[in-house]
Order: sequence, then C-alpha cells, then structure tokens
Amino acid sequence: MQHLGETTEIAIIGGGICGLTTALALEQRGLSPTVYEAASEYQPVGAGILLQTNALLVFDRLGIADQIQSTGVPLDSGRILSMSGRTLQRFDLDGVERAHFDYGYVAIHRGDLQRLLLEELDSRVKTGKACAEVEDTDPPTARFEDGTRIHPDILVGADGINSTVRDVIAPDIELQTLDATVYRATATCELPEQHRTRGVEIWGKGTYTGGAPIDSDRFYWFATAPSPSPFETATTGRQSIMEQLRKYYSSFPEPVPTVINSVAPDEDIITTGLMDVPPLDQWSRGSVVLAGDAAHGMLPFAGQGAAQAIEDALALAAALSRYSDHTAALETYERKRKHRAERIRSESHWLGKFATIQSNLGCRARNHAVNLLPNSIFRRFRHRRTTGTSLPVTKEGIDLR
Ligand SMILES: Cc1cc2nc3c(=O)[nH]c(=O)nc-3n(C[C@H](O)[C@H](O)[C@H](O)COP(=O)(O)OP(=O)(O)OC[C@H]3O[C@@H](n4cnc5c(N)ncnc54)[C@H](O)[C@@H]3O)c2cc1C
Repeated sequence: MQHLGETTEIAIIGGGICGLTTALALEQRGLSPTVYEAASEYQPVGAGILLQTNALLVFDRLGIADQIQSTGVPLDSGRILSMSGRTLQRFDLDGVERAHFDYGYVAIHRGDLQRLLLEELDSRVKTGKACAEVEDTDPPTARFEDGTRIHPDILVGADGINSTVRDVIAPDIELQTLDATVYRATATCELPEQHRTRGVEIWGKGTYTGGAPIDSDRFYWFATAPSPSPFETATTGRQSIMEQLRKYYSSFPEPVPTVINSVAPDEDIITTGLMDVPPLDQWSRGSVVLAGDAAHGMLPFAGQGAAQAIEDALALAAALSRYSDHTAALETYERKRKHRAERIRSESHWLGKFATIQSNLGCRARNHAVNLLPNSIFRRFRHRRTTGTSLPVTKEGIDLR
C-alpha cells in the first residue's frame, strides 16, 4: 500500500498543545505539516498544567518525556482535601502510575511546554494566521482573516474549544456551560517540603481550588467560583478580584492561602468561563478532521483535556502515516479515539457538577461519600484509564513510535 509522503500537504489550524504535538508526531513519520496559528506570536504566558501518565506515555513515544519531566515537576502524590483540611482521598502516584507505567504526573508551566514543543519541531509554524472559514472539505480550502487561502490535501482543526474548523463538520452544536468561572495564576513562593512534589485539590462549597508545584519555588494555582462570580462586578478590576480571592481563601488549608498571597501584582490572572463540547456525530468531513478541544473540549475537573488532545495527536499521525487513503486514515483515527475521549469528557462533566455543589448539605454528603470510597477503587480506575491510552501498535502488538 502506498503511504502519504513528503509531498502530501497537511495543514494544521491552531498551534496549541494539540496542533504542535500533531505536527511533531507527523514530522517524525516523514511528513511535513504546516501549522497556522492565529496569535501573532508565541508568548510564554498561561498558567500551569498537569500532564497525567497517559500524556507522558505519548510524549515517551515522541522521545520528549524526559525533557518534560526535567523541565516540570514530577509529582509523587496528590490529595483531595475538605475545606477544613481533612484528607478525603490520597493519590499515590509512585505506587500506581510510576510503579506500573514508569511515569506519574508532571506539573509544568504551559509556556515551558509550548517552548519545548516548538524547539523540537522542524515544521513551519506560521503565526498571525487566523482561519476565518473552511470553504470546502474535499479537497479542503481554508480562508484566513488576512484574505489568503490554502488548499492542502488534509486539514486538521486543532483550533480549540471555540473551533472555526468545527463549523464545517458540526455547524449546529452549542457549547455546554457549567455556570462556573475559573481563575488561574502562578506564584513564586517558598513551599513547605511536603508541597514540593504533591498536587492538591480542595473541594469547598461551590468552589474547587488547588494546584501543584511547577518549579522548586513556583506553584500553579486555580480556583473556581459559581457564575456570576461573587469575586467580580462590572466595576471590579484585577486588584480587587485578587483581594477578594485572598480574603475568601485565607482560611483554606495550605498551601492555598500562601500561594494566593504570593501572586505578584503584575502576574496574569487568567479568567475562564467553563464549557465543554457536546458529543459530535463525526470528527471529520471529506479530508478535514478535528483533534483536541475542537473535537472534545472538556471541563478541567478530570485534568485530561490536554492529555486527550495529546493522545489524538499521535493516533492521527499514526493513522495518516499508515494509510494512503485519507478516508481510511480518518476513519481509523476516529474509531481509535472518539469513544475514549468522549467517555472521559463525560466523566469530567459529572465530576465538575459534583466538585462545585453549592448547598451545605450536598457538600457534606459529597465529601463523606468521597472519603468513604475505598482508595482501591480510585487506584483501579486510574490504572484502567492509563492502560487504555491510545498508543499505536502493529497487528502483532509491537509498540510503534
Ligand atoms: C482551567 C483549566 C485547567 C486545565 N487544566 C488541565 C490540566 O491540568 N491537564 C490537562 O490535560 N488539561 C487541562 N485543561 C485542558 C487543556 O487546557 C486543553 O484541553 C488543551 O489546551 C487543548 O489543547 P488544544 O491545542 O486542543 O486547544 P488550545 O489549547 O485551545 O489551542 C488552540 C490553538 O488554536 C489557536 N486558534 C484558535 N482559533 C484559531 C483560528 N481560527 N485559526 C488559527 N488558530 C486558531 C489558538 O490561538 C490556540 O493556540 C485545562 C483547561 C482549563 C480551562
């Protein structure tokens, strides 16, 4: 069978985690994709991100897992705490993930991850190229806001949760909102020893907060608030939001108060309304295909959005490099990825509803239930999720890079 070659033009719309990882995976298979990114330049902004074991298994195949581990912070454990500081559940990453799969979780600054991916890439990455519309799918034509057009053989929509490319595949979908806002920032601070390799989540009343160390003295912090946020009014500015967040979280368990108090006055506070993408009937049309948040943008509560985007990247590159027929390649990719990504998206949706319950009674019942659940159930669940990672293998079961 003839395979796609260097002359096959693959355009990737969106140069986020998914687009850059897809480009890297394609390039390692001898293909030469071009990435079109809307932003005029790459800035090292953004908060931290937790890369779970399945994401690291993909990066291992791409040969960059060690660099990611040495740039970020490999965590040895995680905790879910109540507002009063009671431990509701522990995640022994060394005992489950690292023992069975060689990788635990890594917390890393998004800017560092982006830089690593860009450094690894030989492919062309064109910035300042915002896709305005996909005009045709077979063969694809995309029009950019600057009036230019491209006519690649294959067009990958990795343009995030508000995807423009998705309009040509699933024009009528509406994003589902959670009625919650999340604040994110990084802080430079001296962390007590026990927090230097540990992630934490605190399940409060309508609020969900926590984070992880991303460096020896930097911590990535997030906190949700119900919408409309009690921390914002039409007239509040950044300073006032931070003051209210500090006040609200001052009695929460450490390290949250220390971290919020250490957020520098000029540090970006990223504010995001929480949404997810409903299940799509299909991820492709003609030779246009979706990947990452464009296909299955999910709420952040399972910490799996980027991990699923990273799994898409390798699966799509493997399918495109294996089949000369685009349709067969895109069908294989969708078969491999859609069910798993949508199941995890749905789990994250329900976890989000559960983690942001607002009534006193509901919170108490939830925390009690989480505390009563045997740790072995969580261990088995995490083990199963990692075992299910979409990694390409041959018919004989041999791992492929
Ligand atoms: C609060 C929060 C916390 C999270 N924490 C985690 C976590 O800990 N672990 C985890 O695995 N996931 C996490 N996620 C999810 C994760 O951030 C996303 O799933 C991931 O970033 C998706 O990557 P992507 O490349 O598909 O989309 P994006 O990261 O959104 O990238 C899309 C790219 O496309 C560009 N673009 C957009 N429109 C166009 C256009 N029209 N033309 C050209 N380019 C365009 C954008 O500028 C961007 O660079 C979190 C999400 C949130 C909201």
